[in-house]
Amino acid sequence: MKKDERGGVPVRLKCLQICTRAEEQPMSTRRDFLKEVGLGTTAFAVAGELPQAMPGRPSSSAEAAGGQPSSIMAIAAHPGDGFFAMGAPVALQAHGGAHAVFLSLTLGEKGSATIAPAQYGHLQREASERAAQMLKAQTEFLEYPDGELPASEEAKIAVCDLIRKHKPGVIVTHWRGSWHKDHRACYEIVNDAIFYAGLPALARKDPAHSVRELFFADNWEDATGFNPDTYLDITPVFEAWMQACNAFPMWRGETGFRYNDYYGSLAVERGCLSGYTKAVALMSPPEQRTRRLHKLSGG
Ligand SMILES: [Zn+2]
Repeated sequence: MKKDERGGVPVRLKCLQICTRAEEQPMSTRRDFLKEVGLGTTAFAVAGELPQAMPGRPSSSAEAAGGQPSSIMAIAAHPGDGFFAMGAPVALQAHGGAHAVFLSLTLGEKGSATIAPAQYGHLQREASERAAQMLKAQTEFLEYPDGELPASEEAKIAVCDLIRKHKPGVIVTHWRGSWHKDHRACYEIVNDAIFYAGLPALARKDPAHSVRELFFADNWEDATGFNPDTYLDITPVFEAWMQACNAFPMWRGETGFRYNDYYGSLAVERGCLSGYTKAVALMSPPEQRTRRLHKLSGG
């Protein structure tokens, strides 16, 4: 995808609401600062007359919102991805009182060079449950084999069923521009699972559920073509999120990559770019970037 196809100005958010809305800017100094660094902000004029979400598809753009943080589900190929790359938005929504779920499609059991897969998978599961509890979130696991995650119809329906069970307003998952085959498979599974989840004619145990918004996470392994359009202020949950990630042995670099240093400093860098103390960057699917405006306000 060419860079200019993403277009638009990044949106800055204090939380992910059921219907996302850019926050009002409280200070002219902040607005001026952001203009100088070339980001600016977006203020939506939103109200009424909005079409219903298409069955099986996330709705596009912003709609009027009641201000409650949306329920959220992080869907990751491996437990570490869910907590390290997607965990801060989940922590933020849970902090605001929303239903929050971490779904891992594998246990990441082949991720250690020194611990046997069965034991390491157990450790990963335990760490996930401990970390989720710290963040007041729930966990789900599908336990497909690590490194062999199939982008199969069976997997898509299994994820569809969990989406219908938990009814998230927002889903965060992998961007497809990854060197890791499980991450690419997860991207495909989640996109099709959202489609299936929203189809009323697809009869499953739970009724259809339309996911409002989908975001791709800022993951060091999924960096090809990743261009964020949304910055989320995670300052209120930064410390709790870092502590939750610390439940994972690999967080501190045991498997060769210093996740703690990378994601901790990335939150600072994204914060610098967005005018928050700590932030994460998210990327929306192209159809979600369409905005509906009553007027062009210019400010
Ligand atoms: Zn991974």
